[in-house]
Amino acid sequence: MIAGFLFVLFLFPSEPVNAYKNSASSLEIGIRYDLEVNFDNFPIEDLSGLEEINEAKSVVVKKGDNLALIFKRNGLSPQQTYRVSNAGQDAKKLLKIMPGEVLELQIDQQNQLISLQYPFTSTDTLVISKNEDSSFSSKIETLNVDTRLNYTQGDVTNSFWNAGVKANLTDNQIMQVAGIFGWDVDFALGLRAGDSFYVMFEEHYIDGEFIENGDIVAAQFVNQGEAYTAIRYEDGNFYTPEGQSMRKSFLRAPVNFRYISSSFKKKRFHPVQKRWKAHRGVDYAADRGTPVMAAGDGKVIKAAYDKYNGHHVFIQHGEKYVTKYLHFTKRKVKRGQTVKQGQLIGTVGSTGLASGPHLHYEFLVNGVHRNPRTVDLPKAQPIAKKEKSKFIDIAAFRLQQLNNNKRIMLAMN
Ligand SMILES: [Zn+2]
Repeated sequence: MIAGFLFVLFLFPSEPVNAYKNSASSLEIGIRYDLEVNFDNFPIEDLSGLEEINEAKSVVVKKGDNLALIFKRNGLSPQQTYRVSNAGQDAKKLLKIMPGEVLELQIDQQNQLISLQYPFTSTDTLVISKNEDSSFSSKIETLNVDTRLNYTQGDVTNSFWNAGVKANLTDNQIMQVAGIFGWDVDFALGLRAGDSFYVMFEEHYIDGEFIENGDIVAAQFVNQGEAYTAIRYEDGNFYTPEGQSMRKSFLRAPVNFRYISSSFKKKRFHPVQKRWKAHRGVDYAADRGTPVMAAGDGKVIKAAYDKYNGHHVFIQHGEKYVTKYLHFTKRKVKRGQTVKQGQLIGTVGSTGLASGPHLHYEFLVNGVHRNPRTVDLPKAQPIAKKEKSKFIDIAAFRLQQLNNNKRIMLAMN
């Protein structure tokens, strides 16, 4: 029948339907005619023997869901819930299903579960299937992930965010790069035209198909003519090629650059240096409510309100350092509290003597005000001695890869 159908199509192919209907005699060679075919009249093979094959249906986990609720919604009995939950150790994964995740259920005509698949990571799937004796068994299937290196670079022309997007970095990667260099570079106010970045990162593939980005393995940031290079070690931390930690006791800026609305172009008149002596701090203009972080680990020595500083927080870091944060809308810490670097301590506002919402930030070394944008920051721990030679080798290899990529990009431009 199929062959005959194709034959007809070949003889009278296509064109306006009515042309065929109304004047079958005037068909022309070389023109396509549409055929009206009524599939209802086609002799269909008896498919009743195939009814037992049921397509798996995708069930999205809702808020507050558990396996029992999901099974109930899909017409499966409590007994089956019980059996599936007890289908071996791997089945315990079903206790941790999260809203938005998907379960694939294969259910037969008698409302009996045949199989359940639960992909709980991009590569791991819990598979539960029914045995002959109606019990269930579970296993975890893991796909082979192929890791490849990718590379991108970019020039900062107005903001690092825009430059990162232009270089095809994801939001997450842009934040990671800012995180890696956040001890050296003030991403909120310290960027200048001509700054550039170079990023080498892993990508995960399964069967040749891109799945997700992996870790950044090496990166470089050139800020105001100074190049900072970071190499990832297997402990997950980033070090300079010489094995110094990229981390320092203090973040260069206590605000997330993403929240700073003005791009650096507008800031090129060096308001900070000019006003430095006048008020001994750096101003970060930002929307009211923007989170402010502790620049380093320490203890809150003051959290109060007065008519000049508004809501303000002072933090003591060891014997030598004090950081001060003024004009908060809200203080998020109390006096005497210990805080970790990066911890939320307040939100940007304009309380006290402030013309608009901004963070006024001061950095004191032995009681003397220093410019937080340029002050030498104490270094954190270098890489462990016993890891050092291994790291140096990795770093040399990564640097070579990074430089090769740079050369290729240069040749292509
Ligand atoms: Zn100020």
